Amino acid sequence: MGEKKIETNEIQTCSFTGRQFLSSEYPKLCSCCKKEFNNRQSYWESTSPLEHGNYSNGNQNDIFEYRNCNDCSSTLVTKLLDERDHSNEGNKKREQWEQQFQFLVSNGIPKERAKTILSKKKYI
Ligand SMILES: [Zn+2]
Repeated sequence: MGEKKIETNEIQTCSFTGRQFLSSEYPKLCSCCKKEFNNRQSYWESTSPLEHGNYSNGNQNDIFEYRNCNDCSSTLVTKLLDERDHSNEGNKKREQWEQQFQFLVSNGIPKERAKTILSKKKYI
């Protein structure tokens, strides 16, 4: 419904979350303090996760990711793509991944390391 067609070369995979996003999201501007995030990495480093829920489902296969600007604490939204399996099986795997990730992190394993560990068990 008037949805702009996404070119494959616009799609990038976030190295932090493994989720897909559009390269056209960057540079991204904080609408509040006008801080500019040149790329996914600087965005990730200059924003913090929200206390409650960082993702919500939009229309179709879109997922919205929420993070707070470190400078002004306003919430920024990034549109992500969810091209993955939407079956119960797929959801279950993602939930498991998230649980395992939280488990590792809560046991003092750095996030990057936890992701590396989990990425070795390939999930769809
Ligand atoms: Zn800001």
